[in-house]
Amino acid sequence: MADLWIEVDLDAVIHNYQQIKAKLAPPCRLMAVVKADAYGLGAVEVAKALAEEGCEFFAVTTIAEALILRQEGLEGRILVLGPTSQEDWAEAVTQGIELAVSQLSWIPHLEEIAAQTGCKALLHLKLETGMGRTGFTGEQLTDLAAALQQAPNLEVAGAFTHFARGAQRDRSYTRWQFAKYQDYVSRLEDMGLKIPLKHVCNSAAFLDYPEYHLDMVRVGTLLGGHFPAPAFAGTLDLRDPWTAKARIVHLQNVPKGTYVGYQSLYKSKRETTLAVIPVGYADGFGLEPKLVPQGLFDLAKIIVKNTAAFFGLHLGREKLLLKGQPVSTAGKIGMQLTVLDVGRIPCQLGEEVVIPLRRTLANPRIPRIYKKNGKFYRKRVVQEGFLSINEECI
Ligand SMILES: *Cc1c(COP(=O)(O)O)cnc(C)c1O
Repeated sequence: MADLWIEVDLDAVIHNYQQIKAKLAPPCRLMAVVKADAYGLGAVEVAKALAEEGCEFFAVTTIAEALILRQEGLEGRILVLGPTSQEDWAEAVTQGIELAVSQLSWIPHLEEIAAQTGCKALLHLKLETGMGRTGFTGEQLTDLAAALQQAPNLEVAGAFTHFARGAQRDRSYTRWQFAKYQDYVSRLEDMGLKIPLKHVCNSAAFLDYPEYHLDMVRVGTLLGGHFPAPAFAGTLDLRDPWTAKARIVHLQNVPKGTYVGYQSLYKSKRETTLAVIPVGYADGFGLEPKLVPQGLFDLAKIIVKNTAAFFGLHLGREKLLLKGQPVSTAGKIGMQLTVLDVGRIPCQLGEEVVIPLRRTLANPRIPRIYKKNGKFYRKRVVQEGFLSINEECI
C-alpha cells in the first residue's frame, strides 16, 4: 500500500454533473471539459464515468489528449479546443475528433486531409470576441465563409467563443463579447453557413448567464466540484471529488527548542511530536501560483499575506488534517518529505493525513484510487503512457 495517494470520488463528479444538467433547459447539452487530465482528476476515468451517465460531448485542449480518450474506448463526441498541428489532423479526422479552427490558412489543408482520409472533418469555428487569444475576427468572416464553401469534406459542427471576464462582477465586457459573437454568427448564417451548435459558456458564464446557454455549455471547473470564483460559492450543490492523503512514516517526541528542516527555520516552542509524511514540492505540495498583484488592493493583500507568512502565519492556506484536526508543517517543505508538528494529537506510524494538494499541480505519478458506486478501484499502468482503472476491486 502506498504512503502517498489521491482518492478521486467519481460518484461526486457524477453528482456535480447531474446538478449542472438540472440547470439546463433541454435541448441544451453539457460538454464536459476534461482538459489537463480533467484538471488533475484523470481524464479517462472522469470521461468514462460521465459517458455512462449519458454525457455525449467532451472537450480537451490537444489532439493527443483526445486520442488517449479514443484509445481508451470513449465513443462520445470530442472537441479539441486549442490550436492544433497539421501533422496530427489526419489521425484526428479518422478518429472522428472534432477540431476548433481559428485560422483561414487551415481550411484548404484540412479539406485536403479530409478528402484523403475519406472522412468528413467536423469543425467548430472559434470566434475572437475579446479574449485576445485565438479565433476569427470580424474582418475574416467573409473569407472564412468563402473558404468553407469550397470545402465539401469539411462540416461546420458549431461556432464558439470564450469569455475573458465571465467570473467578474462587471457584466459589461461579457455582454459586449456576447453581442459580438451573435453578430459574427448571424453574418456567417447570412452567408449561407449552417451552425448546429452554438456555445459560449464556461463554468462562470453557465452560472451567471443562463440566457447565454444556447445549444451547449462547456463546463470543467464545476464538474470537479470547484467554483470559478469565491463569489459563486454555494450557488450549486457541489461535491469535491479530490482527497490527497499521506501516511505518517516517522514519528518522534522532541523537547522544546528542537530545530526542524533545512536552514533550521522551525524551532519547537514546547515539547511536542514531529511527524514525517512522504510528500514534498516534487509532488506539487506547497506550491502555489505566483502572486502577481492585479491592482492596488491586491498588492496590499499580498503584502499582508507575505508579512504574515514571514511570522509563520499562513493566511488562507488550507490546513493538513490529522484525525480531522488541523496540523501545521514545521520548517521548509522538502522535495519529497515534510515534517508536521502534531502537538498533542495522539497518533501512530501509518496514520493518514489529509493534505491540501492542488489538483492541477499534483504529480501525475502519485497513485490515484477511484471511487465509483461506493467501491474503490486502483488505477494501474496498462502500457507506457496510458493509465486506466483496474477492474479488480481493492
Ligand atoms: C477550459 C475551457 C472551458 C471550461 O472552463 P471552466 O471554467 O473550467 O468550466 C470552456 N471553454 C474553453 C474554450 C476552455 O478553454
